[in-house]
Amino acid sequence: MSMCYSFAALEPGGFAVLALLIGISLIALWVRRFQNFPGKRGFLLAHVGMIIWLLAVLGEIQSETLECKVYWAMMAWPGIAFVPTAWAIFLRHYAFSVPDGKSRAECWALVMGPLLVSAAAWTNPLHGLFYGPLTRLEMVDGDLVGVYDHGPLFYAAAAYLYIFLAISTFVVVLGAFRSSKAHRPYFLMMIFVNGVPMVANLSYVVFGITVFGFDPTPFAFSVVLFLFTQMIFANRLFDVAAIASDLLFLNARNPVLVVDGKGDVVGMNESAEALFPAGKLGTPLCKWPQIGAAMVPGQAPQPKNFPANLDIMGRHLSIQVTPMTQALKSQNTATGLVIMLNDVTDMAKKNTSLEEALLQNARRVAEIEALRDDLQRQILLDPLTGLHNRRGLYDTFAQLKAQSGDSGMVVALIDIDHFKSINDRFGHAAGDRVLRDFARALRVHVRPGLPVFRVGGEEFLIIFPKATLPEIEEFIDSIRASLEDGKFVRVREPEQVGFSAGLAQWPNDGADLDAVMKCADDRLYQAKLAGRGRTVSRSELLRLVVSNEGSS
Ligand code: GH3
Ligand code: MG
Ligand code: MG
Repeated sequence: MSMCYSFAALEPGGFAVLALLIGISLIALWVRRFQNFPGKRGFLLAHVGMIIWLLAVLGEIQSETLECKVYWAMMAWPGIAFVPTAWAIFLRHYAFSVPDGKSRAECWALVMGPLLVSAAAWTNPLHGLFYGPLTRLEMVDGDLVGVYDHGPLFYAAAAYLYIFLAISTFVVVLGAFRSSKAHRPYFLMMIFVNGVPMVANLSYVVFGITVFGFDPTPFAFSVVLFLFTQMIFANRLFDVAAIASDLLFLNARNPVLVVDGKGDVVGMNESAEALFPAGKLGTPLCKWPQIGAAMVPGQAPQPKNFPANLDIMGRHLSIQVTPMTQALKSQNTATGLVIMLNDVTDMAKKNTSLEEALLQNARRVAEIEALRDDLQRQILLDPLTGLHNRRGLYDTFAQLKAQSGDSGMVVALIDIDHFKSINDRFGHAAGDRVLRDFARALRVHVRPGLPVFRVGGEEFLIIFPKATLPEIEEFIDSIRASLEDGKFVRVREPEQVGFSAGLAQWPNDGADLDAVMKCADDRLYQAKLAGRGRTVSRSELLRLVVSNEGSS
């Protein structure tokens, strides 16, 4: 048959087929290189089959003898059988998103189908059951074409191919039914495209319609492959990213509603359908269950008119509204809205329990702080009398010094007279009571805010800011006078409780608290020496000098 490979000039029909061949090959290379989708292998194999088929068609068109034409017609059969088989496999994978794996049945179909059909065709010289004896050359539209006398094996082969075409159509129709809404338009296109080669083949077999005096089926198949590639480009048929966004929308756990420019709800995903069983597409958003009632009445559905949160069917949902703006930036009008409801019930619950825990924590911290403050106060206070103890003495002195500025301060040291004898005669508990009462008496007289210190067993100290010695001497004597009335001090037996006091002035009598206290203590001692029940505010030596001066 080597003579069937030598061709004269390219026939017009041959030219068209060559162009188709180049086109199909380029498409196959492009898809192989750049596209990724389930069924890609079947898709490419269909291209391979198509290339074989078209090569044979080219051979047949270019051949001039009946012998060569029949030779090429038979050479086409592996490709003819391969195309619908691979096509059915492609559609099965594509329509049901079956990844290209190893499938024995598919391999068998791909090998055995074309092999059987080819064997039937190639053994024709032996049995004549494929192309009958009436196969001849005829002039059709000015072209010399082979007119085939189709035998029973031809129809058997054609039937075999129809089985695969029927399977393909069935797969696509089933796919369309089973597919999600996002895929459905693609499937409808596929059903339509899939019908093209069948129509072509039927018109050839039944009505004898030809192209270049030729069976139009291979051309129809080529058209299908072109159309699919066009769909890849224009409809982004295999665009994983586009399908992924559709899938995200349709399968999102969060309910999503799509509202058009008129304000009608035109799309929703399954979660939204579950959340709004009464919601019908085409309903204006303002009449939409729950959401309609929550929106600002009479206002266009703009993001700002939506509530931030909504409680529906026991779920706490936060509302996220994304306007769809027109492609032209200058026309910044919203063409619709995407409303996404985020179920934040669990988060809200967690927030609440977290807030509670924080509140509890804050309460505990406050308790601890109160306890600490209390403890601090306790540390500074004398448990028996409730007066201040020595601990805060120096701090208080420093604070009052700051308040007094240049004017001096007076420190008064007060000691109960003959206190030991109270203990001795009435008992220690009675002594405690006297101490408490005495402390209260001091507290009553001293202005609030000025601390009274218990610095020893029955010894008390008061710091008077911005004060002079005569003022304080007078004040201390007034306390003594009130005590003598017996107003404050109650002991078991009637007992006069008196005290002695020594006063010293800062800064005249000492530069610091220790020095001033020492001076006051000396004067207290002098008061005791001088017979108790008195206040001494000047040193005895000074007093002596003064009295001597007075007498001279
Ligand atoms: P003077 O007039 O010289 O100050 O004589 P006094 O007895 O008041 O002084 P003295 O220093 O001799 O005695 C103080 C007594 O105070 C001795 C001690 O037992 C008693 N005392 C000290 N602290 C307390 C106390 O908290 N409760 C009681 N009940 N007595 C106390
Ligand atoms: Mg005493
Ligand atoms: Mg004493």
